[in-house]
Amino acid sequence: MDIILLGPPGAGKGTQAALLEDKYGMVQLSTGDMLRAAVKAGTEVGLKAKALMEAGELVPDEVVSGIIGEKLDDLGPEQGVIFDGYPRTAAQAVSLDEILAARGRKLDHVIELVVDEDALVERITGRFTCGNCGEGYHDTFKKPAKDNVCDVCGASDFKRRPDDNEETVRTRMSEYRAKTQPILPIYEERGIVTKVDGMGSMDEVSKAIAAALAT
Ligand code: AMP
Repeated sequence: MDIILLGPPGAGKGTQAALLEDKYGMVQLSTGDMLRAAVKAGTEVGLKAKALMEAGELVPDEVVSGIIGEKLDDLGPEQGVIFDGYPRTAAQAVSLDEILAARGRKLDHVIELVVDEDALVERITGRFTCGNCGEGYHDTFKKPAKDNVCDVCGASDFKRRPDDNEETVRTRMSEYRAKTQPILPIYEERGIVTKVDGMGSMDEVSKAIAAALAT
């Protein structure tokens, strides 16, 4: 099964993708994670992406579609995939169809996480992760039990994404509204979209997604 998780920044796509990986043995393909890794490694892709990401703007379509194709080639044909943060434009949606068809795959579901944008700014600007094990935390909703110590691995090396500040978040949201939301009708026409209320608890959202995937 191949699915897309669609929703604005902070809607919970990454969190839900991780739960789906655990539950169904699927693999999350997050273009944001791949680009952050490329920036960190200083590759050619990373050099192209860095300033755009810091500004909250989109990286060129051919760059992200290229890395998605490469990642899929590393996976077996039976391995189900969760696309997280891709596609983000109409051109990427067209590329994804081609990329999947060329590999004998097809999209089974598109889950749209519907959320209240104002609440998202608080969600995003407060989030941070353990730099050692990747556990996610939040200034208001999920602080570590002991100040500055990761509950999971005990490390004290927390990280915030450079693009999780309010100004960049607003740009990322307007990019979502202008370029990503308009691709939904492509999938609605195919009858594969389920809207899920993304403002519920992690557990509620996860149950709603599981119900959608079972149809
Ligand atoms: P994310 O982690 O999905 O919020 O992505 C972080 C940033 O990476 C975005 O604000 C964009 O600058 C870039 N990015 C991630 N995925 C894409 C994509 N599919 N198309 C263009 N830019 C992307």
